[in-house]
Amino acid sequence: MSEVRVRFPPSPTGYLHIGGARTAIYNWLFAKKHNGKLVLRIEDTDAERSTRESIQGILDGLTWLGITWDEGPYFQSEFAAEHVAAANKLLASGHAYKCFCTKEELDAKREKAQANKEDYKYDGTCRHLTPDEVKAKEAQGLAAVIRFKVPRTEGKIGFNDAVYGRVERAYQDIEDFVVVRSNGLPLYLLCNVVDDIRDRITHVIRGQDGLVNTPRQILIYQALGATLPTFAHMPLTLDLNKAKISKRSHGEIVAVQFYRDHGFLPWALANFLVLLGWSPGDDREIFSREELIQAFSLNGITRSNSIFNYRKDDPKFFTDPKALNINAHYLRTLPIEEIAPLVRKELEKAGIWDDAYEGEKKAWFLRTLTLIRERFHTLTDFATVGRAYFADDFAIDEQALNKNVLKHPELKDLLPELADRFEALPQLTAAEAERVAREFAEAKGVKPGLPINAARALITGQIKGPSMFELFEHLDKELVVKRLRTVAQYFN
Ligand code: GLU
Repeated sequence: MSEVRVRFPPSPTGYLHIGGARTAIYNWLFAKKHNGKLVLRIEDTDAERSTRESIQGILDGLTWLGITWDEGPYFQSEFAAEHVAAANKLLASGHAYKCFCTKEELDAKREKAQANKEDYKYDGTCRHLTPDEVKAKEAQGLAAVIRFKVPRTEGKIGFNDAVYGRVERAYQDIEDFVVVRSNGLPLYLLCNVVDDIRDRITHVIRGQDGLVNTPRQILIYQALGATLPTFAHMPLTLDLNKAKISKRSHGEIVAVQFYRDHGFLPWALANFLVLLGWSPGDDREIFSREELIQAFSLNGITRSNSIFNYRKDDPKFFTDPKALNINAHYLRTLPIEEIAPLVRKELEKAGIWDDAYEGEKKAWFLRTLTLIRERFHTLTDFATVGRAYFADDFAIDEQALNKNVLKHPELKDLLPELADRFEALPQLTAAEAERVAREFAEAKGVKPGLPINAARALITGQIKGPSMFELFEHLDKELVVKRLRTVAQYFN
C-alpha cells in the first residue's frame, strides 16, 4: 500500500466541537497506526462565515488534545485558482456544461414539481446547448453556473464504505449539480475533491453527514481522472433526545474548550471521544496513546449513532457521566507530579495559589492532592470542593452542615473541648487523634462519629472525604483546632 494520507478539513465557522474533535482523533489514530500523514486543511471558502477566532480556536483545541498534524494548516481559499482550473477542465472534457437558466425559471419549475407532488431535479435544459448557442448567450452577457453532467444511464454509482459497506445511488436520482456559481466561485463539493486529490489523500474519514456528497464527489474524481480514496463515514453523535449534536443547538457544552475550562485532562477527553462510535471489540475503556494506536481500526467503528449523554440540569454531573468517570480515572491514577502543575493553574484561577506549594510546602501539597483526588472528577474540583485545604474562606456544604452539625446542638460544647484536647497533645498524629477522639466520645456518652463527622464539615467543608484521623495529622494542628472552635458561630 502506498503511504497512508488522511486529512482533517474543518470549516472555521465556530469552535471545535466534540464531533469534529472525534473525527480529527480518528484520522490522527489512523495515520499513526499506518505510519501515515495527517493533513490539516482549513476549509475557509465560505468567507462570510469563516473567522480568525474560529481558526485559532480549532488549532488551540487540537493542540490541547494532543492531536498533531504532519502537514498544514493549508487554507482552502489559497487554492481558488486550482478549483477554477478543475472546473474548466471538466468543461473542456465535456463532463460539465454552462447553464444559463435563471433563478426565476428554476423556481417556477421547482414550484410546479412541488404542486404535482414530484421530486424536483434540474431538467437538463442547458445540457444540450451547442457551442454556438453558448457563445450567443455569453455575448448577451447572460450569467451562467457550471453544472456537472451526470451520466444519464441506467444503473448505479456505488462504492464500498469502510464503515457502512456498499453504498449505491442510481444515476437517475442525481441531478446535474452545480460546481461553480454564477459569480465564478466554485462550490464546496468540487473544492473538497480538488484539494483531496492535490493532497494525495488515500482515506477520507469523515462524519456520516458527508455521505450524501460522496456519490457526486466520486463522479468528480472519475471525471478528473483521479484515483478514488477509500471512504469511511463515522456515525453521528446524538443527544439523549436523539437530536444531532451541533454547535448551534447545543451551545458550549459540545465545545472542546468547555472541557478544557471545566477541568478535563486532554487525554481523558480524547479517550472518551474515541469510545463515542468506536469499540476495541472487548470491554476495555481506558487506553494510553500507544494502546489506542495499537487497538484502533476502522473495523471497530460502529454503524449505529452514539449518544452523548450530557445533562444540562445537573450541576454536579454537568456532562456525560462516562466522560467524567474517565476523567476521574486519569485524575486519580496519573503520577501526582503530573497532576500538580494542572492543579496549580486551577488554584491560581481561584486566587488561592501559594508559591510555597512548590517550595517548602511541596511535600505537603503533593500529599494533599493524593489524599483528596480520590473523590474528584475534574481538576476544577481541587479549587472548589477542595478549597478548604488551601484557603480559610470556604463554604461548608449545606447538607454536611445541616446533617452533621446543626442537628446536634451539643456539638457547640463538645467540639471546643475536643479542640482543647488536641491542642494539648505534643503532636497530633493520626493514632493519637484517633485515641483521643474515641476516649472523648466515650467519656461524653456519644458515638465517635458525631464529633468526627462534625469535624469533617468544619475543617474540610464536605460531607465525605479522606480519613479524618489522617487529616488531623496531615493538616496543621493550629488549623484543626481553630476550625473546630468555629462551631459556635453556626448556631447563632
Ligand atoms: N469542511 C467539512 C466539514 O467541516 C469537511 C467535510 C469532509 O471531511 O469532507 O464538515
